[in-house]
Amino acid sequence: MNPVDLRSDTVTQPTPAMREAMNAAPLGDDVLEGDPTVRALEAKVAGLLGKPAALFTASGTMANLLALLSQTHRGDEIVCDDQAHVYYYEAAGYAAVAGLSIRFAPADRGIIAPDAVLGAIRPGDQHFPTTRLVVIENTHNRAGGAPWALEQVRAVGAAARERGLRLHIDGARLWNACAATGVSPRDYAANADSVSVCFSKGLGCPVGSALVADEATIALARRRRKMLGGAMRQAGGLAAAAIHALDHHRQRLTEDHRRAAMLAERLSAIKGITVDRSRVVTNMVYFAVAPSLGTAAEFCQRLALSLRVLPTGPQTIRAVLHLHIDDEAVERSARAVAEAAQMSAAKT
Ligand SMILES: *Cc1c(COP(=O)(O)O)cnc(C)c1O
Repeated sequence: MNPVDLRSDTVTQPTPAMREAMNAAPLGDDVLEGDPTVRALEAKVAGLLGKPAALFTASGTMANLLALLSQTHRGDEIVCDDQAHVYYYEAAGYAAVAGLSIRFAPADRGIIAPDAVLGAIRPGDQHFPTTRLVVIENTHNRAGGAPWALEQVRAVGAAARERGLRLHIDGARLWNACAATGVSPRDYAANADSVSVCFSKGLGCPVGSALVADEATIALARRRRKMLGGAMRQAGGLAAAAIHALDHHRQRLTEDHRRAAMLAERLSAIKGITVDRSRVVTNMVYFAVAPSLGTAAEFCQRLALSLRVLPTGPQTIRAVLHLHIDDEAVERSARAVAEAAQMSAAKT
């Protein structure tokens, strides 16, 4: 039997219905006259998020980078928390490509308070870089998939606006946040100037993200996307997958959340494994292995034939639920961890 793959919600394969939608998509050259399906997706995403315009991108990293390139100047500074994806996992594109520095705002499980934003803003003096943009992440990946409450986003948005800063929401998993809190994408986005959203995570598409914002920002982002080599031609097949996923895969995200809670419950019963179940709110389960069971990397290796998960720290491991995982796969995963824990304990 193949191992259960909980490394990420990016490991999904397109469903048969999604493949059909991809095959049926009308195509054009999206750099010349436009690809009709890409344009349809961009209009749909802009509408869902209540913004005037959207841009289809190859990845979430590219959508975030374009948010920076279209709303900042070289030498500016952005504010985010020190676990933010844009800082932690994007190969320092903010510095190497966009020429920005970063100032960290203290955060509690990925949530930045308005005072923390205000405290991170540089004085308007020639010694300092100009603070231009605040980036928040919803849900927050390294904080365990924590969603923001609408009120928290509103407060940060107000603080940023009051000081003339822009707010970008890295919403790679905004769909999960919406499924967990019941807040609409539009209500979250109303507090931000730009939002990036991802189709290749919980929604199950093979490729793609989008950046949404006002017309001028998206027009500039479109030029920068070309500069980065990210302007795609007959990309409508990929866009069709995203349209299909928006229509059919958003509602089911609550199932991933239910199964994440179920996995957390099973894991918390295993000796040597600790999991803070109060933090399991969306589709991610972070758990710790006791040093007596080895390091996280060793433990993942031991699991690999039955369960694939990724170490995220010396003793911490991440499991992510997604659309190929049913209840039975959750039970198998928990059994795999229990067996690996027993094996490890026996060895030491
Ligand atoms: C995955 C992720 C991204 C980047 O997405 P890629 O498509 O992998 O480049 C950005 N932000 C967050 C919070 C993510 O989890």
